[in-house]
This record gives sequence, C-alpha cells and structure tokens, in this order.
Amino acid sequence: MRVVVLGAGFGGLEVTTRVSDELGDGADVVLIDRTEGFVFGFSKLDVMFGRTTASEVLHPYRDLVKPGVRFVQADVRSIDPVARRVETDAGAFDADVLVVALGADLDPGATPGLVEGGHEFYTEEGAFALRDVLDRFEGGRVVVGVTSTPFKCPPAPSETALLMHDHLTERGNRDRSSISLVMPLPAPVPPSPDASKVLLAAFAERGIEWHPGRLVRGLDPERGVALVGEDEELPYDLFLAVPVHRAPAVVIESGLAVDGWIPVDPLTLETSFPGVYAVGDVASVGTPKAGVFAEGQASVVAERILAQARGEDASAEYGGTGLCYLELGHGNVAKVEVTFLSGQAPRGGLQGPSAAFVADKQAFGTTRVRRWFAREWPSAEATPP
Ligand SMILES: Cc1cc2nc3c(=O)[nH]c(=O)nc-3n(C[C@H](O)[C@H](O)[C@H](O)COP(=O)(O)OP(=O)(O)OC[C@H]3O[C@@H](n4cnc5c(N)ncnc54)[C@H](O)[C@@H]3O)c2cc1C
Repeated sequence: MRVVVLGAGFGGLEVTTRVSDELGDGADVVLIDRTEGFVFGFSKLDVMFGRTTASEVLHPYRDLVKPGVRFVQADVRSIDPVARRVETDAGAFDADVLVVALGADLDPGATPGLVEGGHEFYTEEGAFALRDVLDRFEGGRVVVGVTSTPFKCPPAPSETALLMHDHLTERGNRDRSSISLVMPLPAPVPPSPDASKVLLAAFAERGIEWHPGRLVRGLDPERGVALVGEDEELPYDLFLAVPVHRAPAVVIESGLAVDGWIPVDPLTLETSFPGVYAVGDVASVGTPKAGVFAEGQASVVAERILAQARGEDASAEYGGTGLCYLELGHGNVAKVEVTFLSGQAPRGGLQGPSAAFVADKQAFGTTRVRRWFAREWPSAEATPP
C-alpha cells in the first residue's frame, strides 16, 4: 500500500512515524515537504525572545531515517484527489492512501500596512528576525494584534504579550512602555474559563491592556496607528502581528477545500475523496489549529491506515482532545486540556500555573523529537544564546 504524506509538520511527522514503527521495512511511505526541517511553533517564541537560537530549534529532515519511509524535499505543485496523484518539482507520486497535512499558509501582505510598518511573529522568518528587533527596542507602545480568524494556537498572542512584559522588565524598559493585546475572541482561551481567568489576572497584574472581540484591519505606518475593529485606532511604536492564515494555494486549486479549508469527517479525518485524508491546520475538523490536535488526528489516520494494511476494518476515531502548555511569563507554565466533540460545547480544564510545568513543556518537545527524528533535544552542546 503506497502512502503519500504531504507536509512534514506535526501531522505529517506523526502519521509517518506511527506507520513506520508498526510496519517497518514493510511500509511504503513517501513524506514530502518543501523545507529542510521542522520547527515547533513554541520554539518561534523562544528564539524571538532570545531564549535559544534558530539553529538549535531546527530539526533537519535529513535526520529522519525511518524504515519504509522516504523523505522528499520538494514543492507540492498539484494534487489530484480523485486519482490520488501528486505533482512536485521532484516528480509525480501516486498513492493508494494520500494524507494532506500541509498546514496553513501565512499572508502578512494581506493586511494593509503590516509589511511596511509592523512585524509578524508566526512564520519562522518573522519570529527569528524579531529577535534583533526586540534586542534593539528601547521601549514604547507595543501592540500585539490578530488580523484574521481562524488563527493557529489561540493562546500564542496572550503568551507573547506576557513574554514581552518580561522582556521589557528585564531590560529596564517596562516603565516607559505600554503593551496592548487585540484579539477577536471574547476571552483569551474561550473553551477553558479557568485558563482565561488566569490570563486576565496576569494581564491586569502586569498592566497589559486587553482588547477582546476585535481584529486589527490594517496599520497606518505614517501615523503609527493600528486600525482596530470598526473605527478604533491604537497608536504603536512596535506592532507584533498574527498574520492572515489560509490553506496553501495548491490545496485550494485541488478542489479539496470548501470555504477555505478541507472538510473532513471529524471522527475519521476522511475527506469526501476515497483514500484521501486531511489532518491538522489545513483541515476544518472543529478543533483549534494547534500542533497537539494535528498530532491526535494524525495518530487516528495512522491507525486507520494500519488496519487497512492488515486487511481489518478501521475502527480508530478521533476524540478531539488536546493538551496545551501555556507560557505565563515569570518562569511559569500552565497545562490546559481541551476537548472538542462534534455537537457539544468545548470544555477545558487547567492545571497550574507552576514553575514545575516548565520541565513538562520541555519534555513534550523532547519526546516528539526523539520519536520523530531519533535524536536528543536540546542537544548536549546547546549553549544559552
Ligand atoms: C507562535 C506559535 C506558537 C505555537 N505554539 C503551539 C503550542 O504550544 N502547542 C501547539 O500544539 N501548537 C502550537 N502552535 C501551532 C502549531 O505550530 C501548528 O498548529 C502545527 O504546526 C500544525 O501542524 P500541521 O501538521 O497541520 O502543519 P505544519 O506543522 O504547519 O506543517 C505543514 C508542513 O507543510 C509544508 N508545506 C506547505 N505547503 C507545501 C507545499 N506546497 N509543498 C511542500 N510542502 C509544503 C510546510 O513546509 C510545513 O512543514 C504554535 C504556532 C505558532 C505560530
């Protein structure tokens, strides 16, 4: 059974690993990604705030040596979901089972004035470049703003505002600065009232201004203002954006997407095309766009592929649960477990915040890198930046 996995992010790496672990050399998996390596979303914040380096957080795909798996670094140029055929700049691939895990593309240019007058921290390039910008920043009006919905990892803008507070405080620049957070959501983490309460208290304690229920429509760099909601303006010296998200163009052109994202059966992750699955940010499953959800969906798809390989009926179903680590600054991390079940209100619990969970968050990354890349992380030679 030829399995072709498009995208080697959270979802693609998990499905590939599970299938290889089970079938070994008997697997026939091609994993395709255009980049040279994987970077965790949370590592972007770590680099941006100078806690580590860009090279330390890159997990090169050349380290991905798994039985029955071939990694191909290539651009996916077209997907034919009926024929399950994929064209790339490294040739064409035919699949018996096709897994689309291409994530969400980010488009800073879609927000007027953002490229000219602000910075985005959601791409690797954007977050890594911000490290020098933050290093030079001597204080002023900081606005962290979301420009469209849906967006990945809904807690990330809140974490960024809190880490910005720590960054300015450590450098003695907090007194001459303000921090505002503009979010489309009514609460920082809507499915977990406890997590939202902790975050709102942390904002209040640190003097972070919270602007819920609105988006940043654009920036006017000449006047140094962010255009917020219907008719508000927020002056800024440093604007940190969550840019517009959309499904990769190749997905839109394939006819797989409806209303911007790939609809799937929320239990099986199957698309409307036989033998074609979609997982993670590219799919509309009903869960937030986050790595933990992409990984959970991928493991269900892997189970279903393995059942098919054994000639059994596939019974694995997705339960919609994910555990996120929430950075609260001051060296504290909380755990938020959220469950999204079709037809039911999402529900979420909170543990912490606690300094002890910093190690748990580290272990979350370490265990994934060990399973996906068979190496230790952080590396023994990692030196503080
Ligand atoms: C600042 C920040 C913090 C975050 N923190 C967390 C967190 O703490 N916990 C959490 O669970 N999630 C977090 N996330 C979200 C998480 O990173 C994503 O939701 C997750 O990576 C989605 O997984 P995925 O497999 O769907 O897509 P991705 O991991 O984005 O992988 C998609 C892959 O497809 C490849 N690709 C796309 N188009 C093509 C093409 N045409 N040809 C070839 N390859 C292509 C890309 O190169 C990419 O490697 C965070 C995100 C950000 C930005």
